[in-house]
Amino acid sequence: MIIGSHVSFGEEQLYGSLKEAISYNANALMFYTGAPQNTIRKPIDDNLLDKAKNIAKENNIDFNNIVCHAPYIINLANKTADKWDFSVNFLINELKRCEKLGVNKIVVHPGSSVGISKEEGLDNISDALNIILSHNINVNILLETMAGKGNECGRTIDEIAYIINKCNNHQNLKVCVDTCHINDAGYNVSDFDKYLDEFNQKIGIDKIYCVHLNDSKNELGSHKDRHENIGFGTIGFDALYKVATNKRLENIPKILETPYLTITDKIKKPPYKEEIKMLKEGNFDQDIFKKNYDI
Ligand code: FE
Ligand code: FE
Ligand code: ZN
Repeated sequence: MIIGSHVSFGEEQLYGSLKEAISYNANALMFYTGAPQNTIRKPIDDNLLDKAKNIAKENNIDFNNIVCHAPYIINLANKTADKWDFSVNFLINELKRCEKLGVNKIVVHPGSSVGISKEEGLDNISDALNIILSHNINVNILLETMAGKGNECGRTIDEIAYIINKCNNHQNLKVCVDTCHINDAGYNVSDFDKYLDEFNQKIGIDKIYCVHLNDSKNELGSHKDRHENIGFGTIGFDALYKVATNKRLENIPKILETPYLTITDKIKKPPYKEEIKMLKEGNFDQDIFKKNYDI
């Protein structure tokens, strides 16, 4: 099972991210190259990158299972104001940073069509991607399936297919399937093979390059997007375990983005070591967090 979680990218850059992932017994990871809500980025440190490559090798972590996530303030759907140009240029630079790090996957939220029609929004996203892809940077762009909160684009398989089909050169354009988001978008994760069948027919299953494995706080089709810990939400452990072990997605990384546990007002702990253990063993333990933390 190729499984990991969202990890931080701090002072020690990818080296620190890898150490965090290893502490969870993960063999995959996802990071933001800076704060997810802003676009301030530090230069990549060569010395730390060497250390990252070494520690990955020592721990059998394949760089194909390291995923970057673009900040959520990027919006490719709306061409009004200069934010669109900024988003396009920022993504080009972020792709170059990934290339330098040796990371070949970056997850991007398609965008939000505020004040314009959904179709215009989708067209703007394809226009942006066409510009970015024309730079021929050797990094895959993974469009994330969204919950459909507000004016979010990319809620349905059809919307993602529409964006991809309007890109001239979509060889480096892939998809990241988020289980919380598809549940909130109205797809039943308990019948994940049915989802994959529709995906395969409309886009092609070979385009799925990452899975975000999250439970959901909300009901099927709620359009909310609030993640829950594995087994503690409306999707449930069995359905998520089936996704994690689905043979059709065997070779792609599964990344947890579940919420931190609140120990006290000030102390929060990551749930990933325990969630990874449960998924590897295939056993849900209702009390796993209580046993390990004082909650
Ligand atoms: Fe995301
Ligand atoms: Fe996600
Ligand atoms: Zn989400």
